Amino acid sequence: MQDSQRRRFIAGAVCPQCGVLDRIVVDQEADRLQCVSCGFEQERPSAPAPQEPRTRVSRAAARRVETPAEAVTLVDPREPDEP
Ligand SMILES: [Zn+2]
Repeated sequence: MQDSQRRRFIAGAVCPQCGVLDRIVVDQEADRLQCVSCGFEQERPSAPAPQEPRTRVSRAAARRVETPAEAVTLVDPREPDEP
């Protein structure tokens, strides 16, 4: 297996050692995180979740922190053009 196939970049991951973004790869064979910028290595966490999957629960949680929804009436101020 080639290196490029068993290594996968983690989008949005920041290296804890050199602080560079998007240089962390997962070595899927060795099950380790590796920084291709500085060579930092770390055991892969048991549940790597850089991005929370979109579920009904997470959407509901996101909705709570948003500003309260206000009733918006989409009406044309002009009179309807109906006969
Ligand atoms: Zn690094």
